[in-house]
Amino acid sequence: MLEKSFRCRYVCLEYQIVESRTNKTKTAGYGCHDAAIVGGGLVGACLALALQRAGLDVALIDPQVPQIPPVAGAWDSRIYAISPGNADFLGGLGVWSRLDTQRIQRVETMSIYGDAPAGRLEFSAYEAGLRELAYIVEGSALLQALHAAIADTGQVRVERPAQAASLEINAHVAQLTLADDRQMAAQLVIGTDGGDSWVRRAAGIAARVSDYHQLGVVANFETEKSHGGTAFQWFRADGVLALLPLPGKQVSMVWSATEEHAQLLLAMDAAALADAVATASGGAVGGLRLVTPAAGFPLRLAHIENLVAPRIALAGDAAHHVHPLAGQGVNLGFRDVRELTAVLAGRAPQQDCGDLSLLRRYARARREDIATMELGTDVLQKLFTAQSVWLSGARNSGMAAVNRLPFLKNLLIRHAAA
Ligand SMILES: Cc1cc2nc3c(=O)[nH]c(=O)nc-3n(C[C@H](O)[C@H](O)[C@H](O)COP(=O)(O)OP(=O)(O)OC[C@H]3O[C@@H](n4cnc5c(N)ncnc54)[C@H](O)[C@@H]3O)c2cc1C
Repeated sequence: MLEKSFRCRYVCLEYQIVESRTNKTKTAGYGCHDAAIVGGGLVGACLALALQRAGLDVALIDPQVPQIPPVAGAWDSRIYAISPGNADFLGGLGVWSRLDTQRIQRVETMSIYGDAPAGRLEFSAYEAGLRELAYIVEGSALLQALHAAIADTGQVRVERPAQAASLEINAHVAQLTLADDRQMAAQLVIGTDGGDSWVRRAAGIAARVSDYHQLGVVANFETEKSHGGTAFQWFRADGVLALLPLPGKQVSMVWSATEEHAQLLLAMDAAALADAVATASGGAVGGLRLVTPAAGFPLRLAHIENLVAPRIALAGDAAHHVHPLAGQGVNLGFRDVRELTAVLAGRAPQQDCGDLSLLRRYARARREDIATMELGTDVLQKLFTAQSVWLSGARNSGMAAVNRLPFLKNLLIRHAAA
């Protein structure tokens, strides 16, 4: 600890010398942090907590106050399937125990349907030797739990509401200027500011972005029949429909639909939407009643070649933006957090957090997981939107073939459960 604060003060001192040499004035009141995290969404908040627990001096720049709790038991329509590996990690940070267990649903089986009767794939936690395939959690509840855990540490400098507006990097330090002109110095700036990352652009890191021209339409429904802890997914000509189980007789829908079809869904009244979803899901959970209004989110793929640059690292959607059909976006982000924390916590005693050779270790370690998810979700999305008789046969018999290969199924399950 003594060593760490010495290193930080040393970097700050150097920084002040550089500042006075370049004749810059700095707004008083900020020290030099080990890491300044830009963006307090699920990934940024988790990273702030994990790095603080690992002994780093952390600042978090967050534009908004976490959402207020849902009114009188209403369910958030932003639902996340969290992998068991990430749930364990959040448990270790003391976040999971802050969630209301009555509002968490375990997924024990997954039923996936192609666009022909042969296309069928079943995943079972029991067959894979796991207790569950995923946990379904409300986004607002998880975000609040993360921010409450951060507040309880009393050790993370949270600037809120605040927005990063400019970034300067030199050999000694990274300096952020906030939108209200305040300044903050850190050895490392981490961009967890989402798919349209400001940090990524400010650092000149290129992103290859392609639009799916689809919206993810989300809504929650009460169901006539029990879902039995099953997550359902239909690969249809008009998009990918998923019904994720919620506690009791409720499901959460994510329908990744073409922009045109999504607008039709969003314009429907409650009864028409419930009917359309019940029909599209072949009555798997019987009739439906809408309980949370539908909302749509644009879907795109972003590939970022470099996750790091001198004194810069990216994590979460700022580092990769994938189609939600595999429910893996935030899971990838939490795995970024786990790796970046391990790398920074394991650095040599005198090593600066912004050292590029250190940051490259993080980038290398994350490459395969991210590439697998980008490629896997993109290929599936394209395979099922292509209108070709030959492809239709191939994709449906491909699903049937995978279904007959327990070894491959177990591999897929274990990758998604990490
Ligand atoms: C319909 C849908 C369903 C999904 N379902 C799942 C699922 O089941 N499981 C799963 O793993 N993933 C899922 N995802 C993906 C998941 O939503 C994202 O991967 C995840 O929200 C990314 O979190 P993040 O913290 O990286 O980014 P964000 O949630 O985008 O947070 C970024 C934060 O940065 C802030 N910010 C932006 N600019 C600045 C700035 N200049 N200064 C300071 N702060 C700034 C923003 O205000 C925001 O708070 C789904 C996505 C969609 C669209």
